Amino acid sequence: MADYRRIMLAVDLTEESTHVAERAVALAKAFDAELHLVHVIEPLSLAYGGDIPMDLSSVQEQIHDQAKSHLSEFANRLGVPADRQNLIFGRPESEIHRVAETNGADLIVVGSHGRHGLALLLGSTANGVLHGATCDVLAVRVGSDAEKSPDSDS
Ligand code: AMP
Repeated sequence: MADYRRIMLAVDLTEESTHVAERAVALAKAFDAELHLVHVIEPLSLAYGGDIPMDLSSVQEQIHDQAKSHLSEFANRLGVPADRQNLIFGRPESEIHRVAETNGADLIVVGSHGRHGLALLLGSTANGVLHGATCDVLAVRVGSDAEKSPDSDS
């Protein structure tokens, strides 16, 4: 099997990101690969369209500044330098694909909730990243599914 050279870790900056990051860091060490980070901010205009009749740009700027400092704290803990931290506006799935491609990543690491029922039908970021990715994708189990043993009932 060929080594991974550049790993793109997608983080939503929730508490679960730490668990997903542990896997990515372990893989980066095992393959002596570069670790890159991406966090995508969904523009408020995409989420709410024209539903809110006010200028959202200052709120958006605050969200950006907060995300920037969270991402840099998170990256510092992992030892990821500033030029490997990507903070981007857009839709998570497509931006994760784009950043992975422009950085020449050969593995994308995301968290996955192993959803059931209606949530499964609605899809997830992990699903969206898997479909259409041009490199390997590792979906790391997070949430309550992560604690279950492999042979327990789901
Ligand atoms: P979700 O399907 O939204 O529960 O997210 C599952 C995983 O997708 C997270 O653990 C992250 O790896 C990735 N992800 C979700 N939202 C974002 C985001 N805004 N930026 C980067 N990665 C994300």
